[in-house]
Amino acid sequence: MHRQMSKTITGIVASLIVALNGLPPAALAQANGKSHALRGFSDASAAAEIGWEEKMRAIPRPELLREYMKHLSAEPHHVGSAYDKQNAEWIRDKYKSWGIDARLEEFEVLFPTPTERVLEMTEPARFRATLKEPAIPEDPDSGDANQLPTYNAYSIDGDVTGQLVYVNYGVPADYDELARLGVDVKGKIVISRYGGSWRGIKPKVAAEHGAIGCLIYSDPKDDGYYQGDVFPKGPYRPEQGAQRGSVMDMPIHPGDPLTPGWGAVKGAKKLRREEAEVITRIPVLPISYGDALPMLRELTGPVAPEAWRGALPITYHVGSGPARVHLKVSFDWSMKTLYDVVARIEGGAYPDQWVIFGNHHDAWVNGADDPTSGQVALMETGRALGELLKQGWKPKRTIILCAWDGEEEGLLGSTEWVETHADELKQKAVAYLNSDSTSKGRLNVGGSHSLERFINEVAHDVKQPGADKSVWDAMKEHRVEQARTDSDKKELSERTDLRIGALGSGSDYTPFLQHLGIASMNTGFGGEGGGGVYHSIYDSFAWYIKFGDPTFEHGRALSQVNGTIVMRLADAEVLPFEFTDLADTIGRYVDELDKLTMRGKPQTKIDLAPLTLAVKSLVESARRYEDALGKASTDGFKQVKQVKSLNELLYQSERKLTSEQGLPRRPWFRHQIYAPGFYTGYGVKTIPGMREAIEEKHWDEIEPEMKKAVGAIQALASQIDAAARLLEGR
Ligand SMILES: [Zn+2]
Repeated sequence: MHRQMSKTITGIVASLIVALNGLPPAALAQANGKSHALRGFSDASAAAEIGWEEKMRAIPRPELLREYMKHLSAEPHHVGSAYDKQNAEWIRDKYKSWGIDARLEEFEVLFPTPTERVLEMTEPARFRATLKEPAIPEDPDSGDANQLPTYNAYSIDGDVTGQLVYVNYGVPADYDELARLGVDVKGKIVISRYGGSWRGIKPKVAAEHGAIGCLIYSDPKDDGYYQGDVFPKGPYRPEQGAQRGSVMDMPIHPGDPLTPGWGAVKGAKKLRREEAEVITRIPVLPISYGDALPMLRELTGPVAPEAWRGALPITYHVGSGPARVHLKVSFDWSMKTLYDVVARIEGGAYPDQWVIFGNHHDAWVNGADDPTSGQVALMETGRALGELLKQGWKPKRTIILCAWDGEEEGLLGSTEWVETHADELKQKAVAYLNSDSTSKGRLNVGGSHSLERFINEVAHDVKQPGADKSVWDAMKEHRVEQARTDSDKKELSERTDLRIGALGSGSDYTPFLQHLGIASMNTGFGGEGGGGVYHSIYDSFAWYIKFGDPTFEHGRALSQVNGTIVMRLADAEVLPFEFTDLADTIGRYVDELDKLTMRGKPQTKIDLAPLTLAVKSLVESARRYEDALGKASTDGFKQVKQVKSLNELLYQSERKLTSEQGLPRRPWFRHQIYAPGFYTGYGVKTIPGMREAIEEKHWDEIEPEMKKAVGAIQALASQIDAAARLLEGR
């Protein structure tokens, strides 16, 4: 074990082993191999928990993961399609067959589908884009009926003609470079490559610079033959493969564009479409590199800077023109119904404390990888929990397992559910666990840093597929291999916990974490293999069983990791939140801000003293809590009189990091430590109010944003102090 032996652990190992004698042999053998107790469990309950967790981890079966995937990915299943609804019903019925209560929750949302798509070059040569991904004989699903065509959802309708300009990734810095080159995009149509930002940022920034249309293509350098062999020979994007996807301005808010901040239940009030803030200002269309090449070839003007060049067989020029293109897109803007599956296991001791775990079920097309690979792992976790219930296990807290609809368009199903149940969730939600696509490799985890230690502990207890080591060992080995600087290497050898990344956006944790302040985690395996069929018709069963996780053993490991997370959170006597890792992480973010301000952009250096002081008090509160937990656990928490209140303080601690006002220009985002960047999209911005005030030169916002961050950190420190007092029996 790599864990430090703390006061929590040392005194109780002997009694733990005594307590194990009541367990079945398999659990006993496993538990005897452990040199530690579980954080938040007394001796006796730790022994029982370890036994149940072991049983759970023995249940998920690769052949069932495969079978579920074959069924769920058999037909295209985007929002509004018949198979989307059928899948939701099928998942619901599976839960019922496992003895778990499950139902559908419906929402009515705006989801546009294309009625017309035209892209043609009119000068200097004529070319009409195919806008079509051809079926591949080796992949029977690639010829399915009812595929959504290639398009970007929430592009506005438009019919524009103009000269073409190549803008690299289309992020703000690229427009600074264009200005240096003397190229203006006003009145032009830009062509940007995928990558460098979330796709929705590209039309947003293009419109801010006066462009009238936006094309987004997959360059083979980032996503295609430069990376490796293309499908069906290899896993990478073929010539005519295009990436569908939402271009909603999600950094403003995710969810239904017509119901920002409230649930899109039937009959809810709705904005008019013209009032929606998140639909693009200019028409957008995604294209393949096959369709992009003939147009890029006809650009002259300056040669693109070296970093802008892709892997097409041309000299990349920026333009503008002489290539001139005509882009026309129009959409059916009718409302569609979402079907969220919500399964529920009622808690025995604290039914009003909810542990929530979700993965979306909708896809752009067949979506074997995205999202079905994660969905089937969640289902096997659900089946395993159902088995344990039959054997007599009863969680202390309520477990809610969700299959979200409409994630692809803008986290619709999760956001509308969270907005609908916001008041109850603020009171009851202990934590939210999310998964999405998963493949083979190592466990990747992002999340709230108050759960960093907990996730590390879970990763120690699950076996890495195909290896005689834990998931944690595999993660650590990889990080040691990747470590480049001496300080990275030093930290890896000295720090107890592997760091987890902060969450930006890109999957269904966003409404939980960033809107309501519910501590969240996102898990998945990856890093071996790779691929390039994301959001195309080639993300299919045939692709996945060849290039994703052919044996489904990593999918099983994900079921085991996530099942362990859910059970341990649901069963703990004292919830396993830990705040020294969080305080350490926030301290690092403040150091980063300090470096930003030192770049001399503002006239005077910003005084970060209030923030530094707040972090200092958080460090002290976090240590005090650890001491109190260590002492309280020596007698199995017997001195703690108000365990229910203690746990409420713990799981509501993340709420303290939110502010009612939210972030400037986007009040829906309330978390003061984690947000998706206004100009990065998925990429996280930490201490976002201040960081973006500095980066975007909103100098007048620095002071008020610092006040909000300081207030949030202080409120969290007080909450942790209150929890420590309860542990101390005061
Ligand atoms: Zn997904």
